[in-house]
Amino acid sequence: MRAVSGRLHRMPHVFEPAPTGRAKCRGCGRPIAKGEVRFGEHLPNPFGEGEMTLWFHPLCAAYKRPESVLLTLAEAPQSAPDPAALERAARASSAHRRLPRIDGAERAPGSQAKCRHCKERIERGTWRIRLVFFEEGRFMPGGFVHIDCRKAYFEDNDVRDALLHFSPDLSDDERAELMRACGVEPGRASSEAQRT
Ligand SMILES: [Zn+2]
Ligand SMILES: [Zn+2]
Repeated sequence: MRAVSGRLHRMPHVFEPAPTGRAKCRGCGRPIAKGEVRFGEHLPNPFGEGEMTLWFHPLCAAYKRPESVLLTLAEAPQSAPDPAALERAARASSAHRRLPRIDGAERAPGSQAKCRHCKERIERGTWRIRLVFFEEGRFMPGGFVHIDCRKAYFEDNDVRDALLHFSPDLSDDERAELMRACGVEPGRASSEAQRT
């Protein structure tokens, strides 16, 4: 551990209404609307003195920075959307070191990338899971895994809700296709996704 000079207690993480609509969520890259509850993670600045704050939609933080959300959940205001869902997502995500890496799913635009799990190429047009790694206060692109390698890579954890959450640009049809690729039959998607 690095010694932090002068400051024994860091500022706690916060839930608070966003004062403007200008900040983007570090988790999904989309704007956080003015007045919407946001999560602020306070971290030591890895590049210098002092601290920095990373802002998130609460659910995005629950998936990608679960330990920080769990530490702060007791202070989540009543206006935070669905605290039970936040806690559920954060607990699931904190239980496995690879789950916070999930950054959504997409069809591979080319065939260059290799799967981080099986090391085979990911064929163009097939579904792949995007991964990111949190390093020095930033999410860095971390490659991909085949959709069919998800159970091996994530050790049987259910990743479907996280995949959908971080794939907001997919159309409804594409989301249904993605769930089919995960073995979910149309019409049964919701009941399967809600199973805990
Ligand atoms: Zn977000
Ligand atoms: Zn693979």
